[in-house]
Amino acid sequence: LFTITAVLLGREHYPVSLLIPYFSGIILAFALRPYKMTYRQIKYFSFPGELLMRMLQMLVLPLIVSSLVTGEGPFLVLAAVCILQAMQHPATALPASDPALAGKIEQVQTTDAFMDLVRTILHSSNVTAGSTANSQASMPENVTGTLENVTRTLRSLQEVLMNALGLVVFSVCFGLVIGSMKQKGRALQEFFSCLNEAIMRLVAIIIWYAPVGILFLIAGKILEMDDLAVMGGQLGMYTLTVIVGLLIHSLCVLPLLYFIVTHKNPWVFIAGLLQALITALGTSSSSATLPITFRCLEENNGVDRRVTRFVLPVGATINMDGTALYEALAAIFIAQVNNFELDFGTCAAGRDITATAASIGAAGIPQAGLVTMMIVLTSVGLPTEDITLIIAVDWFLDRLRTTTNVLGDSLGAGIVEHLSRHELDAQDSELGNSVIEEN
Ligand code: ASP
Repeated sequence: LFTITAVLLGREHYPVSLLIPYFSGIILAFALRPYKMTYRQIKYFSFPGELLMRMLQMLVLPLIVSSLVTGEGPFLVLAAVCILQAMQHPATALPASDPALAGKIEQVQTTDAFMDLVRTILHSSNVTAGSTANSQASMPENVTGTLENVTRTLRSLQEVLMNALGLVVFSVCFGLVIGSMKQKGRALQEFFSCLNEAIMRLVAIIIWYAPVGILFLIAGKILEMDDLAVMGGQLGMYTLTVIVGLLIHSLCVLPLLYFIVTHKNPWVFIAGLLQALITALGTSSSSATLPITFRCLEENNGVDRRVTRFVLPVGATINMDGTALYEALAAIFIAQVNNFELDFGTCAAGRDITATAASIGAAGIPQAGLVTMMIVLTSVGLPTEDITLIIAVDWFLDRLRTTTNVLGDSLGAGIVEHLSRHELDAQDSELGNSVIEEN
């Protein structure tokens, strides 16, 4: 009933209409937990939530392509961004506990780094094929154990999902070529801008369904958890620390940064973003939230489309404040569990910088940060197997850090728009002049 009310409240009261199913999902899950549903029953139960995830993911590809092809992106910045992304390729996230395995990984990394770089920049599906081949080459058949299995599953998830960055580069290049074709390219330009509008209309329809999907996503996840008591004790303190860190970053650091640069009220901006933030909390994926983030920024906050269509797809792939913060804290937690002293140098160089780099390498999909966490642990000399210590609470922390990631991208887009206002206005007047001339 709550959810039906939420759907009826509709878009005008969107934040409220998404918070209601969020909380009713939690209540429903706790009411159903005593009945000990089987794995299959939970799968059926979560199905409406899975549908929301898939519907959103389905839109990401046409949305990025159609919005970028019609724009003109700063290509060089993109190339730099791709190099960073390629350097943090998931192939580096293999567990290297076995020395023989470590040798093979090293070999694969160095020989394939350059090829992977080109693959990432040129086409997303080649990366998938390439990294799968790498992992087959470097994974000996006798690798067993929980950690390896978990890592392999998570990594294949990362590989299967598209690499948004490859797509961004392709779309920008295609857009530039169409732009250079002048009159001849007009038809294609119009086609892509029509396509973009159609996709945004689809997003509006999906938004009606979102409350139902969010309820089942949340409830299904809580029902899936074997033992919620793991949240207590040491792990509970770790969870709390990550939550406090994310709150400080989201509610103090980011808004302050926005205010300092733009002199505008960050809270008004954040209020316009609520629907994207709640969707991020429900889906744990910045990429899947992308269609909603576009809509919030453009329709509620009036951010220029030329900025959102460039900043958001790139941001959803590489700008992950929440993930960076989480990875650094997780490294401290694992170090403390191992009674391992992290001196200042190791902290700054090894942990914090690598955590930031690892967050750049994480894809905008659920629990990608857990995979790239391996890089951070290796860099400070901590046992990679200890990642199993934090897996139990990761489903929960992932939702929170994804929300911070989406907030960081959106405020970033607001800042970029402010800083490039002059250029945008100049482009507008140039466009106006050329239309008058043509007429
Ligand atoms: N789930 C996060 C995101 O999509 C990435 C991560 O696992 O930290 O932004």
